Amino acid sequence: MIHSFPDYYNKFSCIADKCEATCCAGWQIVVDEESLKRYKKVSGEFKQRITEGVNFKEGVFYQKQGKCCAFLNEQNLCDMYTALGEESFCDTCRRYPRHIEEFENVREFTLSVSCPEAARIVLSQKAPVTFYDVEVEAEEEEFDDFDPMLYEKLLEARREMLLFLQNRSIPVAERAAGLWNFIEIFQEEMDEGTLFADSSLYGKLVPCSVRTSYEEAQALSALLHHLEFLAEEWEETLLQTEQVLYENGATVYEEIKQDFLAWKAEHMPDWDIMMEQLLVYFLYTYFCGSVYDEYVASKVKMSVCSAFYIEELAAARWKKNGGNLTREEVTELVYRYSRELEHSDENLCTMDQMMEEIG
Ligand code: SF4
Repeated sequence: MIHSFPDYYNKFSCIADKCEATCCAGWQIVVDEESLKRYKKVSGEFKQRITEGVNFKEGVFYQKQGKCCAFLNEQNLCDMYTALGEESFCDTCRRYPRHIEEFENVREFTLSVSCPEAARIVLSQKAPVTFYDVEVEAEEEEFDDFDPMLYEKLLEARREMLLFLQNRSIPVAERAAGLWNFIEIFQEEMDEGTLFADSSLYGKLVPCSVRTSYEEAQALSALLHHLEFLAEEWEETLLQTEQVLYENGATVYEEIKQDFLAWKAEHMPDWDIMMEQLLVYFLYTYFCGSVYDEYVASKVKMSVCSAFYIEELAAARWKKNGGNLTREEVTELVYRYSRELEHSDENLCTMDQMMEEIG
């Protein structure tokens, strides 16, 4: 069995009570079967809390007001941890923010940028991220409906796309647009059955200078309203972004973007590197998962749209702040965006479908 990791993986350590956002709020925590069995056996004083806090039928923890986990107390500490110790954690709580994608005989690990500390780590990487494999003892696996040939092709394509994304001699926006064009060709050839025969495929991965228009940016923002809102304030954040950027027409939008561009060049010169790290993060995490659903182009488009929209959120915040933006605010926007998208299977699925329709 191969386990794959990004080079920054071991830098993570939970900052616990110093964290500005608990991991137990805003999403429904799914509990694995083994943990459910353990919770059923809890006796003594904590048994009642378990009965009230665990939805055994749905396999999740109940949520209380503010969509917080039922076990999170007023001090933002976990009562289950206090009463039963760390061993009582379900897989989700034990692993978070470590994210695992499963393939036949392969596990790919990342740190979810929905955790502020993980987002900070990803955004602070200066060198192009590399990935390493570790071979671990495990039984050979055979997954139903797993196409090893397609998986190999996806791995190869992802390798090429990551190399292209990390080519810093090209502006990051041109890399992202080039990726978008390439994956449309890839998907088309896949649908037509010519993908494996195309020996010049990766020659089609070239920079593209087409910029996202005002209308496209506005349309993308509108799409995000089709996702279920996890945090109560998220809809308000989208509405404020739209008010600042889009409500006064294309000319004002272009002016804000130009001014923000100039500000970034002076005050956040590594902005493009941060965008590269986000693109690499989304692409690495989700692309190969298309072996299960064949939404290949959607995964790349979701990566590009996510990085682009995080930039939109940042531009709106910068404008609202009167022409200023801190790194902490960028981190905040990244982890809040990520929570909305990545903490909901329903949202990831809706995104796949919406991205399939986007041109
Ligand atoms: S969100 Fe991340 S840093 Fe914050 S408490 Fe959870 S794991 Fe720790």
